[in-house]
Amino acid sequence: MTTSSVKRIADLLLGTEPKQRLRIYRSLMAASVYLVCVALQGYACLAGFMHWTSAAILSSLIVLNILFWYGVMRSGFNLRFEDPALTLPQILSALTVIAGAYAITGPVHGSTLMLLALVLVFGIFNMKAQGARIASVYTLVIMGVTIAIKSRTEPDHFPIKLEIAHFVLVASIVPTISSLAAQLSNLRAKLQNQKEELSQALSRIQILATRDELTGLYNRRHMMDVLNQHQKRLMRTGYHRFCLAIIDIDFFKRINDTHGHGVGDEVLRNFAQSAAAVLRETDVIARWGGEEFLVLLNDTHTSQATIGLDRIREHLEKTLLVPALPDLRPTFSAGLTGYSTDEPLHTCIERADRALYRAKAEGRNRTVVVDTIEPQAEPAAEAVA
Ligand code: GH3
Ligand code: MG
Ligand code: MG
Repeated sequence: MTTSSVKRIADLLLGTEPKQRLRIYRSLMAASVYLVCVALQGYACLAGFMHWTSAAILSSLIVLNILFWYGVMRSGFNLRFEDPALTLPQILSALTVIAGAYAITGPVHGSTLMLLALVLVFGIFNMKAQGARIASVYTLVIMGVTIAIKSRTEPDHFPIKLEIAHFVLVASIVPTISSLAAQLSNLRAKLQNQKEELSQALSRIQILATRDELTGLYNRRHMMDVLNQHQKRLMRTGYHRFCLAIIDIDFFKRINDTHGHGVGDEVLRNFAQSAAAVLRETDVIARWGGEEFLVLLNDTHTSQATIGLDRIREHLEKTLLVPALPDLRPTFSAGLTGYSTDEPLHTCIERADRALYRAKAEGRNRTVVVDTIEPQAEPAAEAVA
């Protein structure tokens, strides 16, 4: 048989969803224990310990049981339950089958006790402590009742002295397995907690690594990654041109000096919020350092990008950055430029910086655009002559 036909049969039998496959596989593994019960009954019949009719009845019940659980799993009905593996019901039904086998296998019934232990061990890896306790109590009750009835009705094959020994054996194994199940369940819960703590720590580290603590905007390092991605996308597709603007709050040192660092921080925080609120969703703003911000304006040319910066300015004029200081009305200067395909990013950033410098020199509270191709400096008089 080829590998692909084996795979096709496995897909047909177990389905393709990985978690369901595992559940069905486990259920079929447990079914193999039932089949041992069936084989044991065949042996008991051949050896003359057991009637064929009772073996046939029990074997049919066992096969029906296997088909029932397989049907429940394969149809996806199990997914409606809190534990889709249906571990406890499957264990309880296996224990019932084994108790039945114990009752009708005559002199070889003692061997079914091993299957009992095997089924409980199967369960301990998946059950919670509560489930393991229920399975233990159920085992003791069903085996106690079976032993009591059989030692009365068939004392030849179930002599009371031997049955007491069997029950003591069951009663000593079951609590041990149950306590192991509880320990494993606690261990699983602890591991799950640690996993959650780790993933929370990881997302916190990711925030710390990419965000500026004061403003919550992207930090400089992450903004460089974002710019690199945009540069690559533009080079690959030829689309999605972008502009860069550096914004710098005017006379910020004065705010610190007059009102203190706390007010300065509040201005930075609220300015960041106010600017981010009016930018387009596709634009990205980051804290570039101190009281400077870098804005990436996507899919636009400088003529359009200035409108975005004007929006920030208008919004800032209408916003009280520090509600306790209504007279504090900070302004900002901005240097804007377009990114030219193939140029290194730092060249573009330096051009935006030069534009900002000019905005400051020309009186602040304005945006200066420096286009990609800057006008040449006037040639010196001697050179012209
Ligand atoms: P200009 O209009 O030319 O930009 O003048 P300016 O005063 O805004 O610029 P300058 O570079 O002289 O001062 C910037 C100040 O920003 C100096 C620095 O102490 C302050 N600063 C930098 N980072 C922070 C911060 O995180 N919080 C606060 N409160 N102040 C900061
Ligand atoms: Mg500055
Ligand atoms: Mg400044």
